[in-house]
Amino acid sequence: MRAFAYQRAADASAAVQALAAGDGNVPPTDAAVQVLAGGTTLIDLMKLDVMRPGTIVDINPLAPRWSQINVADGHLQLGALARMCDVAADPEVQHSYPLVADSLKLAASAQLRNMATLGGNVLQRTRCSYFRDVSYANCNKRKAGSGCAAIDGVNRAHAVLGTSEQCIATYPGDFAQALIALDAAVEITGKSGVRSLPFDQLHKQPGNSPQIETILAPGELISAFRIPGQWPRSVYLKARDRQSYEFALASAAVALDVQDGIVRDARVALGGVATVPWRAREAEALLKGQKFDENLASRAAEAAFAGGKPRRHNAFKIALGQRVVARALHQAAAMEV
Ligand code: FAD
Ligand code: SF4
Repeated sequence: MRAFAYQRAADASAAVQALAAGDGNVPPTDAAVQVLAGGTTLIDLMKLDVMRPGTIVDINPLAPRWSQINVADGHLQLGALARMCDVAADPEVQHSYPLVADSLKLAASAQLRNMATLGGNVLQRTRCSYFRDVSYANCNKRKAGSGCAAIDGVNRAHAVLGTSEQCIATYPGDFAQALIALDAAVEITGKSGVRSLPFDQLHKQPGNSPQIETILAPGELISAFRIPGQWPRSVYLKARDRQSYEFALASAAVALDVQDGIVRDARVALGGVATVPWRAREAEALLKGQKFDENLASRAAEAAFAGGKPRRHNAFKIALGQRVVARALHQAAAMEV
């Protein structure tokens, strides 16, 4: 591991100033100054020599203000420094947003969830093994213009939605699917103050620039998330190679508003199959206004993967993902709320 300087930010403005002192002309993920929250991704990537910051800025002193969990006035507000375990265990989150609680509970391990924060979780980087192993020279995400070892390599875990010929890496997180399904907003703190934008604008598909993963500008921090409304009829379902401590091969975040058997509103998001947290709006459009039954769930699941582009080893993800979506829809529809 390379040597680095450690700074502890006393408050948000000190953190922003310290970050802004890094190189402003590179994507935030390559900047010389990096934020330390739980450290469960950043330190791993520094040990692997994938990330090489000269300075890390510990923002943990910003808690407890940035770690609040509030259900008020019909919405959920979550601080970026809230720990995954605390949000997953919160009784109001479990009752009114089971999708959020489950997306966190089914991620990583208990030890990791005790350390890891929500802000760090949504900004975790891909688990593409070619990205994480610097002995492979060709990875456009690590080094722009170097090629993509995964396209002709082993790509079983890679994405089938939102890919480009420059990168097919899967977005690995679970919680982001809950946020995108529920129309969350993300609050960003930077040099010019605080701004808020729809969460579905945070991550960027790889296109021709896979090294640019989010719209965050240099020096910007995620400070909070806000979910409007309440969704007691919601489910997060995750299929993976083993039952715990594993990333999704395919997952579905589903929320339904069903009255007298008719779907009044539907939210569907997909994980483990796309390059970014993925909202399946075609599936939602099919469900809305219809009587819920098995046939409708199957058609919606097919629609969710209509644009899927499989590679050599990952075609199974389309069939698996469709089954996960259909099952999540059934589970949500059957919930007693
Ligand atoms: P850090 O490591 O501190 O930070 C991550 C990145 O975000 C860094 O680049 C950091 O600079 C930046 N950052 C952090 N906070 C902010 C902020 N507020 N504003 C701006 N930038 C910030 N995750 C899943 O979702 N599902 C899984 O199944 C899963 N399995 C895992 C299994 C293993 C073995 C491991 C090691 C991890 C797994 N994870 C999984 C990932 C884990 O959830 C993340 O490592 C964790 O959520 C990251 O949070 P952190 O606070 O530790 O982030
Ligand atoms: Fe790198 Fe993306 Fe290709 Fe993986 S899929 S090797 S992260 S460019």
